[in-house]
Parts: sequence; structure tokens; C-alpha cells
Amino acid sequence: ESEKVVQEGKAQILLLSDKNVFYNPVQEFNRDLSIAVLTLCSEDHRAQTNSEDDQFTILEALSASGLRSIRYAKEIPGVKKIVANDISEKAVASIQENVSRNGVEQLVSTSHDDAVMVMYRHRRPTERFHAVDLDPYGCPSQFLDAAVQCVSDGGILLVTCTDMAVLAGNCPETCYTKYGAISLRVKCCHELALRIVLQCLESHANRYGRYIVPLLSISADFYVRVFVKIYTSPAIKLALVYQCVGCETLTLQPLGQEHKYGEKPNQFKFTLPHAPPVASTCVHCGHRHHIGGPIWNGPIHDVEFVSRLENVASCGEFGTKKRMQGVLAVVREELMDVPLYYTLDRLCSVLHCETMSMMQFRSALMNCGYRVSLSHANKNIHQDRCTCQRGVGHHEAL
Ligand code: SAM
Repeated sequence: ESEKVVQEGKAQILLLSDKNVFYNPVQEFNRDLSIAVLTLCSEDHRAQTNSEDDQFTILEALSASGLRSIRYAKEIPGVKKIVANDISEKAVASIQENVSRNGVEQLVSTSHDDAVMVMYRHRRPTERFHAVDLDPYGCPSQFLDAAVQCVSDGGILLVTCTDMAVLAGNCPETCYTKYGAISLRVKCCHELALRIVLQCLESHANRYGRYIVPLLSISADFYVRVFVKIYTSPAIKLALVYQCVGCETLTLQPLGQEHKYGEKPNQFKFTLPHAPPVASTCVHCGHRHHIGGPIWNGPIHDVEFVSRLENVASCGEFGTKKRMQGVLAVVREELMDVPLYYTLDRLCSVLHCETMSMMQFRSALMNCGYRVSLSHANKNIHQDRCTCQRGVGHHEAL
């Protein structure tokens, strides 16, 4: 059998070809970012609890080679317990081998079980984990019901989705069955994908009287990765998306408002809109709409958290440091309260006008009193920083 040793961060992993255990070097960025995020969460946890007994605990529910858990153990200060779980016998053998190779037996314990069962066993408040990491093949939806229950109050859920074709508008029906929302073919499909995933997490959490607060939501390569805190008590931040088939204007219709009532803080109700909330034809060009969603309608990042994360990224030793810094700098500048974005080339083509430079377009919008930002979710941004645009109601200015 052939062996391959991989060094990533502070972990050294043995991969045996006959074991066929999953390892994807392209996901180093995903793991680096997760370490930076968990470093801050563990730091905050220590500051809040101020107790040696209440140690930061992590469940990596789908662990494969154990690489991620071993890196968490070696690179996140203050972590005292990590459970690395996988359903595959070969994967578990590989985790055990790698855990002892890296000398982290005290911190990482191995579990051989269906992730769903592990999470359901830890759903009682005293048994919950401070962080739960889901990094499945494709879509995570089968794990979400259990996951939202086994994260402690104020704890963090980290979720990867690699089924981008489904999320980004190629298969709206599949997206509905898996994520409970209809995707649209739109230029801002990557941010729409992030918001569909957040909506899905929110609706799972709401079933158990809980809600999410996104810390960071990243679209990268062939996947999306979201980092959300989970709290108990409900709130609704979802909306339907109306896309005009003529001029492609996007309009959001919030899905009901929260009304707190009664003596108990957790009692609430919400109303669904009765009348068609958005005009049945587009107010700009008179065409009809496609309807997508629901999607997450609140901020997708926490700007203060992102600024702190930039410090961790700059001070840490990460293989993808430059990329982390670049993406986080764009994320920090994103208009957090304005969902979705337009691309400049598409706007120009809809209006049949010559493509202008982003600089010109930006200044024109700002002169009209609008706020403007780029979005990290448009993949062209790194080659050409002028492809991506979003701003408060800027379509009205056109
Ligand atoms: N997190 C790993 C990393 O960063 O290298 C990669 C995980 S890999 C994409 C997905 C893993 O999930 C596979 O090893 C597979 O055996 C495991 N898996 C699939 N279904 C599972 C289930 N129901 N319970 C536990 N593990 C499962």
C-alpha cells in the first residue's frame, strides 16, 4: 500500500491509498478560516465564563482523516476537548492513527457513529458542544436538525455546502427539497446561495425556539462556508426574492414580522403577507417576476467580529494568509444591511449602454447619495475589482 504524508498548518497527516479516506488540499483556506474564527470564539468563551471547568468543546461531526480536528487541537488556544467523528470505519482508523502521530490524544477523542446520532445524544443543554463543524460531501441538510440542537447557547455552528449547482440556480426544485428555498438564475447567485443556506439554518433553529446570528459567510472556490452563532429565543429574518424577468431588478419581500407579546419573552407570533406584497409586474419596466427564496434577509457577517478576525489572520501562520486577508478586507467593507448585488457588465447590457469603469459608476452612484460596496461573493472580483456592485436601491438611480 502506498503512503503519503501531508503537512498542513501544524498537523501532519498520513494518507494511505488503500484506505481511500477523503482529503482535499483546496480546502486549506476553509480550514485556515475556521481556525481563525474558532480562535476568537474560544477566546470570547474564556472571557465570558472565566472558569477553568467550563472548557471550550468542539464536535467535528464528519472528520475523514482527522486533519481538521488535529489542526483545531494544535492551533486553537484554550480548546480542551474535540470529538472527531466519522461513519466510515476506515476513516476512524485513519483519525486514530493521525491523532497519535500528532500527539494530541489528550485533546482529540475519536467516535465511530452516524453524525446525526452523535448530535442527538448531545442535545440536552448540559451535553451540548460550544462548536459544531459540519463539512459534508455536498449538501448538509440531513444533519441540520440535529446540529441546531446540540450547539450550546451562544455557541457556533460551522457549515460547508459544496453542492453549488443546486444552490446557485441550476436546479431550483432540488434546492427547494434540500434547503426549503427556490434558487434563481441571477448574477448574484453566490450571495443568494449564502442567504439560502442561512435561511435554512434559521428555519431549523426556529423549530426549537432558537435563532442564528451570522458571524461570517464566505463563498469560495466550489463551496460556501457559513459561521453562525446559535441562541435560544426566536426571531425571523427571512424574505422572498422577486426578480424582474425584464430589467432583472431584485426586490425583497420580508416574510412576516415578529410581534412580541405576552409576559413571557419567548412568546411570539408572526404574520404571513396576505396581499401580493410586491406589484405583480415590475414598476420599472412592466415585466413579470420570478419568485425565489425564502432567503436570509439580515446581515450575513458581524462587522466587528470580521475586524477582529483580520487581526487573527494577520498575526497567525496560515498557508492561505494572503487570501484570508484579501477576502476579509472585502467582507469588512460590504454593505451589511443591503442584501444581494448587481454586476456592472450585466447592468450595462440590460440598459444597452457601453460598459463604463467601476470607478465612474461608483462615483456617479455616490454623487446621487447612494452607498456602494463590492461583494466578496462575486468570483471575478479578484481578477477585476470592477465587476461587482451593490448599493442601497441603486437600481432606482439608473
Ligand atoms: N472535514 C474533513 C476535512 O476537513 O478534511 C472532510 C470531511 S469529508 C468531505 C466527509 C466525511 O463525512 C467522509 O469521511 C464520510 O465518511 C463522512 N460521512 C458521511 N456521512 C456521514 C454520517 N452520516 N455520519 C458521519 N460521517 C459521515
